[in-house]
Order: sequence, then C-alpha cells, then structure tokens
Amino acid sequence: MPAPLPDARDPARLSRELLAWYDATRRDLPWRRTRDPYAIWVSEVMAQQTTVQAVIPYWERFLASFPDVGALAAAPLEEVLRHWAGLGYYRRARFLHAAARELAARGGELPRTAAEWLALPGVGPYTAAAIASIAYGEAAPVVDGNVARVLTRFDRVPDPPDRAAVRRRLEARAGELLDAARPGDGNQALMELGARICAPRAPRCPACPWSAGCLARAAGDPERFPAAVARPGSVPVLRGAVLVRDRRGRVLLRRIPEGEVNAGLLELPSATIREWRGGEAVPPPERTSDLEALARRGLGRALARETGLAVTLRDALGRERHAITHRRITVVLFAATLRGAAPRGGAWSWHDAAALAGAGLTSASRKLSRFAGGAGPGLAPQGSPVSSPPPRRS
Ligand code: SF4
Repeated sequence: MPAPLPDARDPARLSRELLAWYDATRRDLPWRRTRDPYAIWVSEVMAQQTTVQAVIPYWERFLASFPDVGALAAAPLEEVLRHWAGLGYYRRARFLHAAARELAARGGELPRTAAEWLALPGVGPYTAAAIASIAYGEAAPVVDGNVARVLTRFDRVPDPPDRAAVRRRLEARAGELLDAARPGDGNQALMELGARICAPRAPRCPACPWSAGCLARAAGDPERFPAAVARPGSVPVLRGAVLVRDRRGRVLLRRIPEGEVNAGLLELPSATIREWRGGEAVPPPERTSDLEALARRGLGRALARETGLAVTLRDALGRERHAITHRRITVVLFAATLRGAAPRGGAWSWHDAAALAGAGLTSASRKLSRFAGGAGPGLAPQGSPVSSPPPRRS
C-alpha cells in the first residue's frame, strides 16, 4: 500500500469528505429527526453500551411514556427501570432519572452548553459533547469508543486510548476534524464511520472516505489499533436462583433493595454461592453436574443469608451466564418450594408467569424466566439447559 499523500490528511478536506459520506449514507434513526435536547439526551444515554438498532424500540417507548423532562422527573424510579429492563447497565437509567429530577427542581429548563450538561449526574464528557453539538450546534468534539478506534487507526496511535494523554490527543484531533458549521453532524458522522465501516474486526477500508489518508491502512495493520487496554483477569462467580410458584402458578419475585446492584429492579430470588478470586486450591467445576451440585449445596444457606427466604430446592431448571465488570457469572436456576409461610413485606410479590417479560426484571432474571414457561415477547433466549457444558476457567 503506498504512503498516504499529505493532501489526503488535510483536516479541512477530511472534514468535507466525512460529511459528504455521512450525507450520502447515514442511517435514518428516529432521534436524528429531532432537535429536542431531551430526546437526544435519552438516545445518547441508551446508546452507550447498546447498539442503535436495539435502542430504537426502547427509545420510542420511553419517549411515549416520558415525553419530556418533567414527565420523567414525576415518574417513580421503578417505572423508569421497568422501561429500561432489557437494556442493561441500569445505573444509566438511575442517573437519567436523578438528573431529570434535578432539572425539574430548578424549573425544568435543560442545559445548553457541554459544560452545563457535564454538571448533571451521570453525564460524562462524551454525552455532554454529543447533546450540545447535536441539539445546540456547539463545536464540542465527541470521543466515544467508535471515534477512538477510527482516530487511533487513522494516525496509528501506539498507546491505549484510556491513557489521559492519549485521550487529550484524540479530543484535540476530533476537534480539529469537526466542521464548525455542522458540529453535530460531524460528531455523528465520525461515530457512524466507526460503527459501520471502521469496525473492530475486518474494517471495510475500501468503503471508507478517509482511506487515502489513513496510516493504518497504508501500513496494512488497522486491527492493531486501538492498542489494547490492560485489564485485570475476570473472576468466575457462581450464583443460584429459585423459581417458586404459588397455588395459582404465579412466580415469586423480589425487589432488589437500595445499596445492591440493580436496586429497584425485580429478580427471581437469588444469591451468590461462591467466587473464585484467585489462589484457591479448588478451581470452578468444569462439569455441569458438579456445578449444579455445588450450587445445590450452597444456595439454601446463601438465600437465607442474603434475602431471608427459606426454601427447599427441587429440580435444576437451567442456567444462564453473563459478565459484569470483571466478573463472569453463572446462575443456576432451581425449582423450589417455600419452607413455612410466604415472605411478607414490600420486597416480595407474586407475578403471572406470562407477564414476567414486562415486569422490570434484571437482565439475568429475564433470561432465566424462559424456564418459567411464560416468558413473553422481548425475552432474549440466551439461557442454557443444565445439560450444556459449563464455562471453562480461562
Ligand atoms: S481506512 Fe480503514 S482503518 Fe483507516 S479509518 Fe478508514 S476504515 Fe478505519
């Protein structure tokens, strides 16, 4: 591949070429048809850690139920979380709700500048710049994961983008490439280039408007960038959950209390049985039957300790795996019957199995609830029967 011509790296030319590509090929996303900063804010928060295609139905339902910041502020948190169920990363919804309440308490007017947005709970530099540029035309550059990937490849930046100096360099570069007359489109164009063309694997360089000036393409090594961020090893975790039904076939759910992960959401009663933080003499079991036996031995006590629920375990129904920041979690689900009276208090409630999908469950419980036999639409069929192989220790 010949070396890029200096002309093809000229910022003004790059900015023009990027916008021309965007104008010709951009996706028709519903939040691109509005300048309403509230609607754009919701879309930006939802699109963090989630693909835009997956976000669309959630965004539409959310806006229909909470059409402005006042409506969101007035809604109970549980109702907001219920609309968020399935998107994951519920801290985003909590912050959104908290920020809406803060704004409502101040009269309901939304911020205009990126600096003002940044002062709200849960709004980081990326979100602040995106809203201010798209809704108000402020020339505030956005550097999200997609943008960082494009820029580190275009300039062959050798260091990982989580370093402060690299982050500053990328922000300066993104600012230089932003068309002052169309900063919102410029930011969205660069994010879209990363999402659709400069993909993490097998970037489609021939279709890229910047291919003539890209250093990584010229060197033939785009996939080396961005440089890998060093991460601590993940911890295997074994949890257990129970499916308890009453005489009418309804399913017992627990509302997670404040102070715990996913507070405010509903879950099938569950508890942590074991974590392997390293250095243990006995590694996590490899065989499904051993994993299930370990869960069966520890779940009753763990449930009583963490939730106060006393049960007798019956059959193992299935299992589900997911990862949360350095923890690889396996949850084994058991059918169970109550020992003694049904639990009392606001944390406990009975639900029709057919309505579980819309009940505001945690992601793990949504996946497990397919084993309840009444999962409705929108339930991701990701759980596994217990006969499939367990996760292997990496
Ligand atoms: S030419 Fe290829 S590697 Fe370079 S920015 Fe475009 S898609 Fe990414």
